[in-house]
Amino acid sequence: MQRDPERGGLRLTDCPAGSGALFEVWRGRRSAHDRCAFFPVPNPALPPSRRLPDGGAVNPSEQLCLACGLCCDGTLFDLVKLEGGDDATKLKALGLPVKVSRGKAPIARFPQPCSALCEDRTCRLYTDRPWQCRVFECGILKDAKAGRMTFAAALQLVKKARRRADKVRRLLRELGDTEEHRALGERFHRMSDRLEFGNADADANAKFADLSLVVHHLKLQALNKFYTKTEAPAPAPARRAD
Ligand code: SF4
Ligand code: SF4
Repeated sequence: MQRDPERGGLRLTDCPAGSGALFEVWRGRRSAHDRCAFFPVPNPALPPSRRLPDGGAVNPSEQLCLACGLCCDGTLFDLVKLEGGDDATKLKALGLPVKVSRGKAPIARFPQPCSALCEDRTCRLYTDRPWQCRVFECGILKDAKAGRMTFAAALQLVKKARRRADKVRRLLRELGDTEEHRALGERFHRMSDRLEFGNADADANAKFADLSLVVHHLKLQALNKFYTKTEAPAPAPARRAD
């Protein structure tokens, strides 16, 4: 799935999201909080539990996104397209693995899980983040901000989705997929191809059935709660060409 407004995909938000902990561990490096410029203004009046490591204040929307990260960690999307105002060269220099497709209308994009995620689910490139990262808000965040849902209820939905995504990752690992740098949708499709045309044993088949069910519930939740009605994604998840 991709965030692609022209093709009915979604846009990123200016949230600081992402399952940075997993991603950073996969690559064997830790995030540097001093490079996470998400909340640059310290507010010493707030209690410690309401501040980020750099001292910045956290509002309810930001708290929700910091507990979530699903729109940056490869759960909801598998890539982010750059737009006209984005400086692909600069973003590459900052560490985003931007690739440009060949053809008459080249498309610049970078894959998820995003390499800019920090352990605390802030965005390492916050001040330089791409346009789509600045404008996307998922349905849950929009509903909470508009008062159609409490932030507490939104947090419960986020936690539920994260539990499902974690279970998908665990089952994929148990089935032999350790490609944690790929988006969940892509990993699931690759596993489907492998098991549906291979000679899987009974245990693998049982795990794959379990995996398929969790993916189904996660997709339903994403469609009903995270993807916004006006920006519904294309019916089939996009799959990376490379
Ligand atoms: S709450 Fe929505 S906008 Fe915020 S990190 Fe999660 S998916 Fe992204
Ligand atoms: S640059 Fe990466 S971590 Fe930052 S908001 Fe965009 S997708 Fe999320």
